[in-house]
Amino acid sequence: MKQKVVLIGSGFSSLSAASYLAQKNFDVHVFEKNKTLGGRARQLKKEGFTFDMGPSWYWMPDVFESFYNDFGKTTEDFYRLERLDPGYRVVFGENDSIAIGDSLEKIYQVFEQEEKGSSTKLKRFIDRAKENYEIAIKDLVYRPGISPLELVTPTTIKKINYFISNIKKDVYKEFKSPRLRQILQFPVLFLGAKPSNTPSFYNFMNFADFGLGTWHPEKGMYSIVKAMVSLAESLGVHFHTNSNVEKILVDTSGKAIGIQINGEKIDADIVLTGADYHHSETLLDEKYRAYSEKYWDKKVFAPSSLLFYIGLNKKIKNVAHHTLFFDVDFDEHARVIYDAPNWPNNPLFYANFPSLSDPTMAPEGKEACFILIPIAPGIEDTPELREKYLNIVLNRLEKLTQQSVKKEMLFCESFCVKDFIKDYNSYKGNAYGLANTLLQTAFLRPKLISKKVKNLYFTGQLTVPGPGVPPALISGKLVADLIARASL
Ligand SMILES: Cc1cc2nc3c(=O)[nH]c(=O)nc-3n(C[C@H](O)[C@H](O)[C@H](O)COP(=O)(O)OP(=O)(O)OC[C@H]3O[C@@H](n4cnc5c(N)ncnc54)[C@H](O)[C@@H]3O)c2cc1C
Repeated sequence: MKQKVVLIGSGFSSLSAASYLAQKNFDVHVFEKNKTLGGRARQLKKEGFTFDMGPSWYWMPDVFESFYNDFGKTTEDFYRLERLDPGYRVVFGENDSIAIGDSLEKIYQVFEQEEKGSSTKLKRFIDRAKENYEIAIKDLVYRPGISPLELVTPTTIKKINYFISNIKKDVYKEFKSPRLRQILQFPVLFLGAKPSNTPSFYNFMNFADFGLGTWHPEKGMYSIVKAMVSLAESLGVHFHTNSNVEKILVDTSGKAIGIQINGEKIDADIVLTGADYHHSETLLDEKYRAYSEKYWDKKVFAPSSLLFYIGLNKKIKNVAHHTLFFDVDFDEHARVIYDAPNWPNNPLFYANFPSLSDPTMAPEGKEACFILIPIAPGIEDTPELREKYLNIVLNRLEKLTQQSVKKEMLFCESFCVKDFIKDYNSYKGNAYGLANTLLQTAFLRPKLISKKVKNLYFTGQLTVPGPGVPPALISGKLVADLIARASL
């Protein structure tokens, strides 16, 4: 008889694990507290506009492709992908921006214009980043983080110095232009920590950025959720929405035997949770939790975010599909996220206008606008603060791109710390999990296998390998392999 796995949450890591487990002949049931599947990659539809509420950058297309290939499929079986050109634009001031094109050649040219001699340095930098990307994908990220020995291979040994230095140091050593420095440190933000606290090895994200490019799935990131759900269903996975898990049930021998929803017991041979790791442990009696409140409190979390979803009554100019507003002090903003948590005086922010390249995202002649301000997890969140920051960023957007925006607003929805906690049970309202610092890499992250409860497993952005959609796909694969191996 098939062994039954109950899975808590339906984020990308859970969707990935569900398909791999079904492929390995488990009977898989996914329980999601919200009414839709996909975790933080939710979709908001309003007045003909479509917004991806969470992730919007499609990076590392090879990881998605490899996921679909594992099931005899390809990305094209599910959605059409377009490489964006420019991949993104970085705004430094009025009439002052740099566009990152869709080929290395274009990017070398832009660098050379900004700083003489920098294209040659960038070529060397990207060659090293590419080498690290290949090592990361082949030798590191697909390891379950059980033992430090996983990291020791003939290729990784040669890279030991990349774990001693950090991204900021490397970038500052090579490049003088403050703008190029900011652009090269930007990909690190996806890992959730400051560039000065991120090992140089993670420069492979620069290759992901410049070398592999920024892509857009037609109809937005929610197309990935739809693809993964349809794949999982075709493999026999059962999905249950509006199903808030209240407890993980453990028998007297210390073995997980199911979950509780609405006071009712649902039996299982194996429990796997893809909900926020901290929250998942609160579903256990205290004696079965592997990590204390003190442990979580000391960890470096990825930022939370203040998000706005705005329908605009006209087309917008002087911006790209992805536009970064880096016209303020990057280090000061990072300081109030990580060192002295507070609201930033002058926030850097990111604006996404998907309808610029995908007409399905907004009615004709209008623009869908998504704005993200990274903020420290756990800080105060009130309607007044949201309003204040909406005005700050819209004033800047108007001034920097030289057009009216505020009076074109048809509606504006916001999402912040309190919503992350309420909707996703996210620890301190973090947006994308536990950062990838040196001391929070691989075997130093919370484990995929419970240390205290038999047949209980974890997946997702707080465990291995880390934050982001591609790592979530990998996390699901890793945990499914561990479960299958333990069940032999
Ligand atoms: C605003 C934002 C922007 C981002 N931008 C990008 C980007 O551009 N590119 C990128 O690659 N990544 C990005 N990320 C990160 C990426 O979205 C996440 O790392 C990834 O989606 C996390 O997936 P997950 O499976 O770990 O968990 P989640 O998506 O958090 O899923 C966990 C699920 O568990 C459910 N759950 C929680 N508690 C319970 C319970 N008790 N019972 C039942 N269900 C429960 C939650 O409702 C949720 O659906 C972004 C994230 C955010 C929030």
